[in-house]
Amino acid sequence: MRVVLLGTGSADGWPNAWCTCASCAALRARGEVRRTTSALVDDVVLLDCGPDSLHQASAAGLSLGAVRAVLVTHAHPDHLAPVALLARSWTPATAPLLVAGPRSVVDACRHWVGPDDPVSLLVLDAGDVVEIEGYVVRALEAAHDDRADPLSADALLFDVTTPDGSRLLYATDTAALPEATVGSVAGAAFDVVLLEETFGRKGDHGTGHLDLATFPEQLRRLRAVGAITDATRVVAVHLSHHNPPDVDRVLGQWGARALPDLAVLDTGDPHPPTGSRRRLVLGGARSGKSREAEQALAAEQRVVYVATGGERPGDSEWAARVRVHRSRRPPHWTTAETLDVADVLGAAGPDDAVLVDCLSLWLAGVLDDARTWETAPGSPAYAESLALVERRVAALVDAVRTTRARVVLVSNEVGSGVVPEHASGRLYRDLLGTLNARVAAECDEVSLVVAGRVLAL
Ligand SMILES: [Zn+2]
Ligand SMILES: [Zn+2]
Repeated sequence: MRVVLLGTGSADGWPNAWCTCASCAALRARGEVRRTTSALVDDVVLLDCGPDSLHQASAAGLSLGAVRAVLVTHAHPDHLAPVALLARSWTPATAPLLVAGPRSVVDACRHWVGPDDPVSLLVLDAGDVVEIEGYVVRALEAAHDDRADPLSADALLFDVTTPDGSRLLYATDTAALPEATVGSVAGAAFDVVLLEETFGRKGDHGTGHLDLATFPEQLRRLRAVGAITDATRVVAVHLSHHNPPDVDRVLGQWGARALPDLAVLDTGDPHPPTGSRRRLVLGGARSGKSREAEQALAAEQRVVYVATGGERPGDSEWAARVRVHRSRRPPHWTTAETLDVADVLGAAGPDDAVLVDCLSLWLAGVLDDARTWETAPGSPAYAESLALVERRVAALVDAVRTTRARVVLVSNEVGSGVVPEHASGRLYRDLLGTLNARVAAECDEVSLVVAGRVLAL
């Protein structure tokens, strides 16, 4: 299967031409433009036919002359520009063309078909199956219903199987996928999934669309039923300027990509995995490091959250902090409150993910356990306690190196401030700096989060 992404943008495109926001400015500076979402499969099936589809095909040096089916998800004007049919009637095309979609799409197209053009219109409902030239198309229910707007109420998604047996899911526009849709693609093992991710970091849009919080949850659901496998190419489409300019990096952690307009997906090409297996996320207080670490694992099936802070009886500020962190975690995550991080990493399997938050509290706990603060520096007891700490650090570093699980570790970057006044503060700072460096050496991705921005180290 060969899929040309004719467009990967939302209705307004990204950048939005009216907009001066940082996200739009960043794309303009890069010369990047995402036009309305549409894709061409094997030159034969056109998925959505919006205001940019024809021009984008021309920009890619392609003719749509071989297209036999136009599948339109819904009649919103960014997905359906029926003037395309009028343009076809101005050519000597004589091959038959099927235009299929929900009732509102067919109604909108009727008056645009040229009198002698062999175009047939077909109304599809969720569950309908139609075959065109060996391409089997299944219409699936979308969740795009937007305040009883008739143009979104009957929106569909498409499951397309090509004559060579490759399979693609085209899922835009939709909010969280309906249960029926997820159930009907169980075991599909799609080769390509084009899934919308319209609203980026804007979580309060209240529309029939996905965003960076709800998108990974759909991936998790599709993986759970075998619709997405490690071999599936997952591409986010229908992207708007509410997305951060580094959205491709964010999606990469979930095994998805944000490819540019006119990119070509060929299922015969190599498909290297995205995202890291072992990652260290560093940052100062309130830098956004925990949020970044949690987001990294948002599409994982099984996550063990290792809380290393322990209980602090009588500390209401700490309790409030723990509550906030806990409420942010998805309900299917399990929590382990322990300093035995090496044991958790050792017990985890290849399909598990482990989030350790955080190494700085872990080290403080280990120093407490070893009674380092109760011994006099220079005494044999002090040396013994530090040896104990070193054994636990070495075991942790070993476990990070050998774990079969995907792991994300959070730690504080504390070494850049003034030299601590007390010897204990200096010892802690030095031990943590060394621990961070040793863990970093075992990780394939190390990031520094500053002011919510993620810097790759
Ligand atoms: Zn749209
Ligand atoms: Zn729409």
